[in-house]
Amino acid sequence: MADRGPRPGVTLHRFFLPPDAVQAESVTFPSEASRQIERVLRLKPGERVVVLDGSGMESVVVLETVGRTTTGSVEMTRRNEAEPATYLTLYQGLLKGAKMELVLQKCTEVGVSRIVPVVTARAVPAEPSSSRQGRFEIIAREAAEQSGRGQIPEISPPMRFSDAIVEACNSGPAVFFWEEERSLRMKDLCVTHETPTVSLFIGPEGGFTEDEAEEARHAGCNIVTLGSRILRAETAAIVGTTLLLAKYGDL
Ligand code: SAH
Repeated sequence: MADRGPRPGVTLHRFFLPPDAVQAESVTFPSEASRQIERVLRLKPGERVVVLDGSGMESVVVLETVGRTTTGSVEMTRRNEAEPATYLTLYQGLLKGAKMELVLQKCTEVGVSRIVPVVTARAVPAEPSSSRQGRFEIIAREAAEQSGRGQIPEISPPMRFSDAIVEACNSGPAVFFWEEERSLRMKDLCVTHETPTVSLFIGPEGGFTEDEAEEARHAGCNIVTLGSRILRAETAAIVGTTLLLAKYGDL
């Protein structure tokens, strides 16, 4: 029979599965993934997908049975090449649901490794609920699958502003984008590649207060402008993530 191995240039559908879904070389897809393979993608036995377990490795899997419980066997395992070398945490002032979801989706595509919603002075108080957190995690997983990443960004529970500042400044360089900053720009920042852990702060819709910017400056954050135009918070998150990853050579 002719070899039906994955042809170069053909993008295979990708699934993050829990580690126990792969036993030896056999894969059992959980019900949601099975349903998607059968009903949505209409894949057939013999077709291939990529399975990821979040470890940074990925396996090409040949489907064997397609149905309520879809199974397959591992054809080959390789290292995922799409993960950024820079571990970037985005500390995002709390946003209303749809805006936060946009930030999660787009920043995952660009390459953020962790997102922490931050309770700031002007943030809209969000209902902390497990369904909201679960929804955030699904969005991050789908964006990671779609963009070919080897890991799903971690979505942390909401954190108080002061705690976020301390955590970020203790873990490496931190860039705090402040709409009132006039002089320091991204291109003025020096980058040392010895510190691949970087943090980024974006305010909520109402922006950061002067006190918050002062606290961040005191703790050691770089207070930086994104230019003379005010961006919406969600735009600023995407642009800020892009600029930082580009600065660290990851785009
Ligand atoms: N409501 C505020 C704007 C807030 S924008 C006002 O009208 O002044 C939301 C967040 O995006 C800001 O807190 C900041 O983190 C970021 N941001 C937007 N535009 C920016 C800019 N030009 N420079 C630096 N940060 C910016």
